[in-house]
Amino acid sequence: MLASCLAFLVLIFTAYINHTKSFRIFRNCIFLLILAAVSDIVYHMLLNSLDTVPHEVVYAVRITFHLSLFAILLHFVFYAKETLHMELKSDDKYIYAAVTAYALIALYEIVTTVTGTVFYIDEENNIIQGPSLFPLFFFFYAVIILLMLILHKSRIYKQIYIGIVVTTLLSICVMLIQGMHRQSSFTAAVFLFPMYAILYFMHSNPYDPEIGAVNISAFEDLTAYSYAHKNELLIMSLFLQEFDVKDRKFPKELQDLIRHYNHHFFKRALLFRLSGGRIVLVAETAKNPDYRERLDSMLKDFYTQHERFRLDHKIIFLTTIDEIGKTNDYLDLIRYLESLMGDREVKYVDKKDIEAYREHKYIVHELEDIFRKGDLNDSRVKVYCQPVLNARSGKYDTAEALMRLKLEKMGIVYPDSFIPIAEKYGYIKILSLIILNKTCLAIRRLISEGYYLKRISVNFSMIDVRESDFSEKVLKIIESNGIPYEKLAIELTESQSEQDFIIVRDKINELKDSGIKFYLDDFGTGYSNFDRIIELPFDIIKFDRSLVVASNSDTKSETMVSYLAHMFSDMHYSVLYEGIENKDDEQMCIRMCGRYLQGYKYSKPIPIEGLTEYFERVS
Ligand code: C2E
Ligand code: CA
Ligand code: CA
Repeated sequence: MLASCLAFLVLIFTAYINHTKSFRIFRNCIFLLILAAVSDIVYHMLLNSLDTVPHEVVYAVRITFHLSLFAILLHFVFYAKETLHMELKSDDKYIYAAVTAYALIALYEIVTTVTGTVFYIDEENNIIQGPSLFPLFFFFYAVIILLMLILHKSRIYKQIYIGIVVTTLLSICVMLIQGMHRQSSFTAAVFLFPMYAILYFMHSNPYDPEIGAVNISAFEDLTAYSYAHKNELLIMSLFLQEFDVKDRKFPKELQDLIRHYNHHFFKRALLFRLSGGRIVLVAETAKNPDYRERLDSMLKDFYTQHERFRLDHKIIFLTTIDEIGKTNDYLDLIRYLESLMGDREVKYVDKKDIEAYREHKYIVHELEDIFRKGDLNDSRVKVYCQPVLNARSGKYDTAEALMRLKLEKMGIVYPDSFIPIAEKYGYIKILSLIILNKTCLAIRRLISEGYYLKRISVNFSMIDVRESDFSEKVLKIIESNGIPYEKLAIELTESQSEQDFIIVRDKINELKDSGIKFYLDDFGTGYSNFDRIIELPFDIIKFDRSLVVASNSDTKSETMVSYLAHMFSDMHYSVLYEGIENKDDEQMCIRMCGRYLQGYKYSKPIPIEGLTEYFERVS
């Protein structure tokens, strides 16, 4: 019995276990069980030497034994309340009942011992033991716990529920059988069954037997725990893309190597496997004050080994920082930094990285809020515009709408910093609609103020177009602003897959009849597929700035670009050159069949209201 308890202790201290509140309750149970087991042993030893020992000691030890057993039952109730998330005021009744029962038992034990009604030792050192209420109290607790479990069974995983209920029932059975045989030697052991179940189900952290690592929740728990206790940690993350697939195993040599890193370089380091290919080693800096040197020697070793394995990797070192610790976002920080790193790169995280990450988080948070609110007039989304020169008329009559965010803590934010995030999380959908709405509004104002404008183009991403109600939404927004459809154009880039191509083709065909124009954006940056391009009824092909730059630098490119532009023109597409920065660019692009010219030479993107400076007033 005592041995079992000690085994428990060894297990919970060697295995890495989450230090949650329920775990602390559980740990107290083990201590109480040890107390019970020890007092039980002492009690039986004392019974053999009643001649020499004062009887009060025997009484005291017996009471300790009983009360520690009931304290365990009381803790089980606390434990059940915690793990079943019973946070309502009305759930406190279980606690009141359990605590009251405990007070009654304590009183009962003391009174019956003092008055010698249930148990006493007579002058001849005989033990006189009458019937006790002990089993009654035991069943009372068992009933409370079973009730809690049964009434809240939906809150725990079914297998765990069954496991715990069965072990509790088993304990009750053993108690009953004991009672029938009027003996008590298994009393303490009865408590072990549910504890085995709890340890097994609730507090075991699956070890990765290959490399001896624990999982992600253990990692998050450790970082939270260390933050709370102000223990600085050194976190070393190794990401191996190739293994980041579910159930992918490390080859034997790599397993050996990882185990070697686990123990060799840092004192008391812990190893975590956060995903298939992500291994994290954590050590306390206080225990490794010379961690810089240790890191260097580990890296040196790593690169010798790298000769053998040649795996793509990203390595990040960081010491825990309070601001990130507050929200316990280390894994997210690591993932974010990795997304900016190249393969086979090593990074020591510094203040600037943390700052960039916090900005990133802030942007994500704001985008999410914009998405959630779904307000087509959200003031954080700004439409900038770049006027486009009509080379034939020499006037500005079209423009491209370009998105900016204006965020309280950051001011104006440029697309590079938020479009990829917005696309990744799907928030782009609302942003595009807001830009469309605001552009329509500005168009209406410009027209009503007497400006001539042919159209303004709005960028949409593939994520927008894939929405089944894309066309409907676009038409509705234009219509609600009361402007003619042909004042609006949609810019799309070439699709990457056959599937997307079909979607784009269908959407263009759905919208084309309304009068909306279509631009093919960034031509010349991908693997242009002419068969596909000419299958789509685009109106304008936007030649990317890279083609302008290339044409500037060598005549071969110029010939080729010029040839392409002529070909498109002959096929009744208009060619727009992007990124015209100076007079030379301009002249060359006009030579190369440029119908529209856009770039810093004419204007940087400006707030859309500023277009009045460029467009011609006709009435
Ligand atoms: P894009 O559609 O190719 O837009 C043209 C980009 O080139 C703009 O950058 C513009 O400021 C920049 N640019 C204009 N003239 C010149 C020039 O003479 N030289 C150089 N080097 N650059 C020039 P911006 O505004 O930072 O936008 C970047 C990208 O973000 C856009 O590329 C587009 O892909 C995306 N984006 C912007 N607004 C939206 C939007 O409302 N929706 C979507 N889905 N994407 C947008
Ligand atoms: Ca564009
Ligand atoms: Ca472009």
